[in-house]
Amino acid sequence: MKKTNDLPQDPEDDEIALPFGSGLISGWLSAILAFLSLCGVLCFLFPQWLTSEQFRAAYSAEFARGLLFWSLIAAYVTGLISYVLNRSKRLAWFGIGVSLLASILGGSRIEIEPFQSTPYSLGLDWFAISFLFSMLIFIPIEKAFALHKEQKILRKGWRTDLVYFCVSHLLIQFIFLWTNGFAGTFFSWAATDSLQGAVRSLPIWGQFLLATFLADLFQYWTHRIHHRSGFLWKFHSVHHSSHSMDWLAGSRTHLFEVFMTRAIVMIPLYVCGFDPAALNAYVVLVGVQAVAIHANVGINLSWLRFILVTPQFHHWHHAKDEEYVDANYAVHLPIIDMIFGTYKCPKGE
Ligand SMILES: [Zn+2]
Ligand SMILES: [Zn+2]
Repeated sequence: MKKTNDLPQDPEDDEIALPFGSGLISGWLSAILAFLSLCGVLCFLFPQWLTSEQFRAAYSAEFARGLLFWSLIAAYVTGLISYVLNRSKRLAWFGIGVSLLASILGGSRIEIEPFQSTPYSLGLDWFAISFLFSMLIFIPIEKAFALHKEQKILRKGWRTDLVYFCVSHLLIQFIFLWTNGFAGTFFSWAATDSLQGAVRSLPIWGQFLLATFLADLFQYWTHRIHHRSGFLWKFHSVHHSSHSMDWLAGSRTHLFEVFMTRAIVMIPLYVCGFDPAALNAYVVLVGVQAVAIHANVGINLSWLRFILVTPQFHHWHHAKDEEYVDANYAVHLPIIDMIFGTYKCPKGE
């Protein structure tokens, strides 16, 4: 088991209070929405370089245009509110200025020129859409059901986590290429027609459950080995160095670990040849759960915590108490920790 004092220390003290009525909430909202809108416009202008081939298939241009339209409106409105309420006009100027730039470049009416798709592109679309929805869904939930009520939205270490969030989302296409290439190169011998035929004979929901179980089983052992090996712990300790748990904290993962874990998790998914519908459902679960299990949420999920990994379960894995850092390795299904004797979820604590 690794010692918690092995964890790298975060020297940053970047906590920022956002008192209600000060114009800071509206100012930050305006700045973020304007920046995300500009990202959206750039995606429309340079789709071949800035949008990921795989993620592009998950949404339509009309959907992106609608998002862009409402983000720009909200950025202008919140920018104006902040301008009125806040003595420092910096956030308001930034929000309105960047919104103007995004509007001048075409705004939500921007047309897409025909382009040559390339697999070697950044996932700026994945970053912008994922950040927008994570923020809009999880910040209100955290405010309403906070486990640590005193914790601020812009709490200590948020800048570091944001950088990790950006980098891992921008590189999504390369992560995808690497994981597929790895599984295809080394495990094509195991992907037999008979095995894949048997898997595909299952109903979609059965394939989804099997995919989730197998992926988490592979993830469990990869994760546990990261705690056991001094070399791998150097990378994984980055994930454990967050001071606070919230929707952004889970992003703090070393890229080496991201590439390694995703490649290993891809092995059973590739070998079994699941139906794309089952795989897509699994990918959605990964996206939601990766954020949700770190969230600063104190809802008691009762019996559900025995079926799905919840914040209650995963927060124990991040506990500074050394007894718990060596427990709860699963990220989807607690049953995997139960099977291997590492399940620890003290009731009422
Ligand atoms: Zn861990
Ligand atoms: Zn975690």
